Amino acid sequence: MKRKKPLNRFRLVALLLIATLFLAAERQSVGRPPPATLATPPTKDVQSAMTPDAALAELKAGNARFVAGKPIRRNPPADVKATASGQYPYAVVLSCLDSRQPIEMVLDQGIGDIFSARVAGNVLNDDILGSMEFACKASGAKLIAVIGHSNCGAIKGAVDDVQLGNLTGLLTKIKPAMDAVPAGISPRTSKNATFVDQVAEANVHLVMQQIRERSPILREMLDQHKIALVGGMYDLSTGQVHFFEK
Ligand SMILES: [Zn+2]
Repeated sequence: MKRKKPLNRFRLVALLLIATLFLAAERQSVGRPPPATLATPPTKDVQSAMTPDAALAELKAGNARFVAGKPIRRNPPADVKATASGQYPYAVVLSCLDSRQPIEMVLDQGIGDIFSARVAGNVLNDDILGSMEFACKASGAKLIAVIGHSNCGAIKGAVDDVQLGNLTGLLTKIKPAMDAVPAGISPRTSKNATFVDQVAEANVHLVMQQIRERSPILREMLDQHKIALVGGMYDLSTGQVHFFEK
């Protein structure tokens, strides 16, 4: 009879311990976010229901997910199958060739989400302009985004007047952006990171202006608010895209 008492006490302590652990687990599962939903490529209906503002909001949200290291869950093989017979991207993005700015990745976009045009210094030419017209007028994209980046090699090349084969002509397109940077910012060489980044930003504004001026098709769509045009700068050191305010 006397040996039963410590055993009961032991059982009681064990039961209390189990109950505490159970309650702690319950509390943890309440605080845990629900499992991420599976993103799928936009359908024709999703694309036509989307507004230019909603398209921009999605690019911003995607970049926030990228910066937080929490990309949305996707199933690429299934997305390949789903988009094989048609595509309904909601935006067209012009960005630099730079390997550190893979645009779909930094905006957390998947197969079928955005049209992507990449060229050193995110400059504009007739073929890219034609591609944008295809994206918006023929394929229903709602937003044109031009995204430059910090510490851009193409901008540095233009600033330093680099001459190299076919690159020379490309860099010539960037040079007018240098004039848009206030004279007080010096030295005006690639050694001055502030100057380089300000030229890169001015270059984005220049390209935005050129899109409007050189494409009557896109200008009309912009004037009718069927599409929007936005610029932005990608920061190589943080992974963040700073979109320009309207
Ligand atoms: Zn670049």
